[in-house]
Amino acid sequence: MDFFEFLKKFPDERAVISHFIQIRYSGRVACHHCGSIKVYQKNERPKVFHCADCLNTFSIFKDTIFENSSTDLCKWMYAIHLFLNGKKGISGYQLMREIGVTYKTAWRMLKQIRLAMGNIENQEFIDTVIEIDETYIGGKPRKGKDNDDDDMPKRGRGTKKTPVVGVIDRENKKVHAKVAKPNKEGKKLTGKQLLEIVNQVAKTPLLVMTDEFKGYNVMKRTNHVHLRINHIESFASGIIHTNNIESFWATLKRGIIGVYHQLSAKYLQEYVNEFCFRYNNRSHKNKTNPNMMNALLKQAVLA
Ligand SMILES: [Zn+2]
Repeated sequence: MDFFEFLKKFPDERAVISHFIQIRYSGRVACHHCGSIKVYQKNERPKVFHCADCLNTFSIFKDTIFENSSTDLCKWMYAIHLFLNGKKGISGYQLMREIGVTYKTAWRMLKQIRLAMGNIENQEFIDTVIEIDETYIGGKPRKGKDNDDDDMPKRGRGTKKTPVVGVIDRENKKVHAKVAKPNKEGKKLTGKQLLEIVNQVAKTPLLVMTDEFKGYNVMKRTNHVHLRINHIESFASGIIHTNNIESFWATLKRGIIGVYHQLSAKYLQEYVNEFCFRYNNRSHKNKTNPNMMNALLKQAVLA
């Protein structure tokens, strides 16, 4: 959707409200209290409905990311549009300038959009090939620059950075990624933690690709068929590789450069969710998925 298509689709708040009614209620609003469809839209406040059966009055945005916001709905839609279309999203300052709101409002809107992006049940990867890998992000900024080509001896496994575990369904191009919290013994990432995250999406036996990290020895205790690529020798051996999940990590890391070092592990999961959403809802071959915005609006309903 380009800017002009956007304008046609959402010329005013009423258009946004009609669109949201399609998404949330499949076009037919029902009372939140009694379920009756004898409901009437208030003329002066079109997002508010009144129920003729139980006399309840409710907003169609109750229990959504928009609930407590007084920001214009067209600005909300445009914010979502910009955030989904940018490969790396959009910063609070950019959004502030684009839609004419305060920084605080822009920041809050982005936080709410990320909340919707993470508002999904775990998917299940069935009858497919999965790649599992971990990456390490952030950590306290060190003296001088904290980048990948400094001469600090420890990077990745064994450092103070936060581990993130990712599982990709190679055939359906879907990703599941979770921040792994340090366990009680203070070890950063154990086989048990890896397995917990993998089990969230891989409930039936699958063909699993990993690298040689010893944490993946835990796969022996599962029914998965486990193949490993030795990255010291090569990055791929026929179908044995983890290239898809590695390219996801590259996009994630490029996207959060400059923001994550100021954020806690709690926020890191929100950023990971953001990149998972974009990956899982994009169309391939560089075309924007026209349903990406609708997918986001569906997930904007929180209860
Ligand atoms: Zn009712």
